[in-house]
Amino acid sequence: MSRVAIVTGATRGIGKSICYELVKKGIKVVVNYRKSDDLASKIQEELGDMVRIYKADVSKRNEVKGLVDFTLKEFGNIDILVNNAGIDQEGMFQDITDEIWNNVINVNLYSVFCLTQEVLPTFLKNKSGCIINISSIYGISGGACAVAYSASKAGIDGMTKALAKELGPSNIRVNSVAPGCINTDMNSYLSEADWKQVIEETPLRKVGEGIDIARCVSWLVDDEFTTGQVISPNGGIVI
Ligand code: NAP
Repeated sequence: MSRVAIVTGATRGIGKSICYELVKKGIKVVVNYRKSDDLASKIQEELGDMVRIYKADVSKRNEVKGLVDFTLKEFGNIDILVNNAGIDQEGMFQDITDEIWNNVINVNLYSVFCLTQEVLPTFLKNKSGCIINISSIYGISGGACAVAYSASKAGIDGMTKALAKELGPSNIRVNSVAPGCINTDMNSYLSEADWKQVIEETPLRKVGEGIDIARCVSWLVDDEFTTGQVISPNGGIVI
C-alpha cells in the first residue's frame, strides 16, 4: 500500500519540490497551502490521483485539524509529516512589532507544534511515523535582520531534538532539514549583487534549488536509523 504524506506549504518553492519527489517514489501527498488556489490546482492536474490539495492556514489550530482529518478521510492513513510552510519578515530588531513577531512564530513554529500533535495519534496507532521539519541555517547561525525568523527556526530544531527523544521508543523519527540559500520566491527580494555575494561566500559557489532539499527529505523518508538530527544542505556556507 502507498505511504501517505502531508507536506505543508507545497504550492511553491521547496515544498513543491518535496511533493514531486515524494510522488516520484510512489508516496501519496496532501498538498497544503494558504492562498495560491491556481498553483494548487495545477499540481492536482499534473499529479492526478497521487495528490489532494487542501487550503489551510497552518498557524490556526482548527485549520490544522481540518487538514489532518481531510488526509485521513481521503487517503485513510498518514505515514509522513513534512512541516515546510514558513514565512520570513526581514527588518531591524527594533522595528519588530508584536504583530510581526507573533505572525512569524505562529506560522513557522506554532504550526509545527499543532501539526505534530494532530498527526501523533495516527503515528502512535501505527507504531511508526516520520516527521521532517524544514528549519534554516539561520536557526543554526542566526541571521541579522531576521531575529524572529532565526528564533522560530532555532525553536524548530530544539523541538526536533526533544521530540526525537520522546517519540523514538514509539518508532517515530523526527529530524530537521536546515536549508541554506535556495532559489525560491522567499528570496525574491534579493538583488543581483546579493545573489553574487551569497555565491562568493558559499564554498560550492552556487545557491541551492528546491530539489537539493527535496533529495534530502526523500532520503530521510526511507532511512531507519536517523533521528533528532539537524541536516543542513547549504553548499558549505555554514559548517
Ligand atoms: P516560498 O517559496 O515562499 O513558499 C512558501 C509556501 O508556504 C507556499 O506554498 C505558501 O502557500 C506556504 N505558506 C505560507 N504561509 C502559510 C500558512 N500560514 N499556511 C499554509 N501554507 C503557508 O518558501 P520556500 O523558500 O519554499 O520555503 C519553504 C520553507 O523552507 C520555509 O519554512 C522556509 O523558512 C524554509 N527555508 C527557505 C530557505 C530559502 O532560501 N528559500 C532557506 C532556509 C529555509 P501560498 O502559495 O498559498 O502562499
